Amino acid sequence: MRTKLCGGLMPAAVASVLAAAVAAQAPATYDLVIRGGQVFDGAGNPWALTDVAVRQDTIVAVGAGLAGRGQREIDARGLVVSPGFIDTHTHARRGIFEVPTADNYVRQGVTTVFEGPDGGSPVPLKPFLDKIAALGMSPNWGMFIGQGSVREAVIGRVDRKATPDEIAKMKDLVRDGMLDGAFGLSTGLFYVPGIFTPTDEVIALAAVAGSMGGMHVSHMRNEASGVIDSVKETIAVGEQGRMPTQITHHKIIGTPNWGRSVDTLRLVSEARARGVDVTIDQYPYTASSTGITALLPPWALEGRQADIVVRLRDAGQRATIKQAIVESLQFDRGGGDPKNVQIAACGWDPSLAGKNLAEITRARGAEPTLDHAAETVMWIVEQGGASGIFHAIDEADLERILKDPVTMIASDGEVPIFGKASPHPRSYGTFVRVLGRYVRERRTIPLAEAVRKMTSFPAQRVGLLDRGVLRPGMKADIAIWDAATVADTATFEQPHQYAVGVHTVIVNGQVVFEHGAMTPARPGKVLYGPAYRPSR
Ligand SMILES: [Zn+2]
Repeated sequence: MRTKLCGGLMPAAVASVLAAAVAAQAPATYDLVIRGGQVFDGAGNPWALTDVAVRQDTIVAVGAGLAGRGQREIDARGLVVSPGFIDTHTHARRGIFEVPTADNYVRQGVTTVFEGPDGGSPVPLKPFLDKIAALGMSPNWGMFIGQGSVREAVIGRVDRKATPDEIAKMKDLVRDGMLDGAFGLSTGLFYVPGIFTPTDEVIALAAVAGSMGGMHVSHMRNEASGVIDSVKETIAVGEQGRMPTQITHHKIIGTPNWGRSVDTLRLVSEARARGVDVTIDQYPYTASSTGITALLPPWALEGRQADIVVRLRDAGQRATIKQAIVESLQFDRGGGDPKNVQIAACGWDPSLAGKNLAEITRARGAEPTLDHAAETVMWIVEQGGASGIFHAIDEADLERILKDPVTMIASDGEVPIFGKASPHPRSYGTFVRVLGRYVRERRTIPLAEAVRKMTSFPAQRVGLLDRGVLRPGMKADIAIWDAATVADTATFEQPHQYAVGVHTVIVNGQVVFEHGAMTPARPGKVLYGPAYRPSR
């Protein structure tokens, strides 16, 4: 080919060099172009070999061989390009002020985290959200308003019904939370004081959020022997409150209950068939994590720490509590063996972190029987408590729940201080563990389906209609990773280990992670829910 220039002819090679020089001086068409990756759009479609172009914080073009130059170009050949992952259940308040980069999440490809789960949130939300907005974070941040915190603010941590006047006050606080930007109401009916809330009160409060476009998401009353009734209750909140409802971190706890996910998933499917908008989220581990007081009966937990200690020092009540702990260790969260309960973090004795109940019981000079382990639990609670990790979930239930199309991925994690305590590895590994262990190794679900469960599905669920899909007009939250190597490395023994196989993470058009390190960019924004009133 010959190109005519200045009235003469010149060789094509010379022409193309000249053309490249001209192009290099021309203003860039885009701020960023990601070239040649296997693009999963997030909607569940198979990948396509396309380019993705970004201007400022927005995706402006998607297509093969995009013309025009990016100010910055990323070569993604051989890699997956997907929407950034959206985590609708986190406890990221724990740690975000110390680690605003949230490295444990971003290094997995997570670009948005939601807080206020399990019925627990700041009340009111606005001062907290203003603080978060001023912090300068790597990921985006959204909130739920917590029913337990609302109840605590109005009537305290007590075991009684609310009066009509108190219910009116609680409804006002939920309404305020929605106006401040919450995406819905979370409940934690397993925890004090949510545990003292009758279902009709939950429905009355949830319906306020529902009428303002919000959803209900529940850490259910019981995930062990009472899991069936709890699923029915969660469905009832959506059905009677006329709103979307979600079973969060769905699991079946306790060996006698294993297999019941067959029934819980059937209940969800039947509810959907009659028009109830119910969905599920899940983390991919066979252990849960919460306060060690989860082993105590609910009635023993009313009030504050001092009230619990008073009960433990009353001989009659202590014996009753102890019997309940023995049963919980055997049939519920204890998984039948004190070895299955591990301390995650302990304020009054950090050296206990990582040790299990059998080891701690032996160190106290007793054989690690269930009876002695129950004594150890009461001793820990008396000293000030601790958070625990509980190995009592079956892999078959986990995979059955994961395969269900109405299940999305959410970590239930936090932002750990690197190296401190012995947290559940879900904070470091949830999303990449699904991609590594459950897609690549066990082939439990296909890759496009896993990506959907982490991107467009959670986005659609909470109503984030401008994220979760790679399409022009959407916000540029993007993860670039290697499907052949992406994996979790955090374990229960060594939890402080970052994900591997993730190359580049982009939030609102800015690169926050590349070449194995966080960048100085802090583009994360507070995202506000459907009823947000900025002028409040
Ligand atoms: Zn929870």
